[in-house]
Amino acid sequence: PSPTNPNKTFEYRIMPYGDAHLLLIARDITRVSQLEEMRKDFVANVSHELRTPLTVINGYLEILPHDEKSDPFVHKAMTEMISQTQRMQNLIEDLLVLSRIEASSERIYENIVNMPSVLAQIEREAQALNKQKQHRIVFHIAPDLYIYGVETEIRSACSNLVFNAVHYTPSEGEIHVYWETCETGARFAVVDNGDGIEATHVNRLTERFYRVDKARSRKTGGSGLGLSIVKHVLSHHNSRLDIASTVGEGSQFSFVLDRELIAEQG
Ligand code: ADP
Repeated sequence: PSPTNPNKTFEYRIMPYGDAHLLLIARDITRVSQLEEMRKDFVANVSHELRTPLTVINGYLEILPHDEKSDPFVHKAMTEMISQTQRMQNLIEDLLVLSRIEASSERIYENIVNMPSVLAQIEREAQALNKQKQHRIVFHIAPDLYIYGVETEIRSACSNLVFNAVHYTPSEGEIHVYWETCETGARFAVVDNGDGIEATHVNRLTERFYRVDKARSRKTGGSGLGLSIVKHVLSHHNSRLDIASTVGEGSQFSFVLDRELIAEQG
């Protein structure tokens, strides 16, 4: 905010000016930040309003009879409607999660997150999700490495990265998940031996709705918001997502939480 007018928002930049001076550039971004706030409110409200009608539609779809014995057209139409409503529900849930994280003022130092327990649950969910793909999934978890943070957010970030590896690695792949101390703090990493991602896409993956292969990603049932959620969670925890990928070899998605966020180590 501006020091002289609390209703104005400025963006400041300091640049070298000649040998002995610094130049301070202040840009009035009041309008831009107002529009950004309006956008966030709009998305949050629309997502919230769409939830109820969808729940009603889904409820009716689930009780309408549509087994193999029904008319083939009805069976096909019902199956498609159920799958598309599910997709829409996932999308709305992810939009709400994203809005919540964007608006989150929850302090990260107020709660301790038992990461080994959070990751043990994610491991069980990943193994359940893995039934069809038959990957070898191995978790390497430091047992007493707890952190300060917002548990729902951290859980959402880690599970998005693990489930993406399960979804986007071709069958019978190998996935390793690491949670360990490192030089600057605690490091979480998901390493897969999937198809990898071309460099041109890598920088754009955390944009909302950005997908490398739209058709294939849609089949996984994802919303295209997963990595955007991860990015916001990490920025709330003063970290950022690192993506290293080689086409034909696999990908590594990782982040480091600063050592100040480590709560307890055995
Ligand atoms: P979604 O999975 O819902 O499409 P995400 O934001 O989670 O959305 O991921 C964006 C895109 O990044 C995916 O559509 C996919 O193309 C790519 N991607 C994510 N994780 C991986 C991975 N481990 N290997 C290959 N591609 C990936």
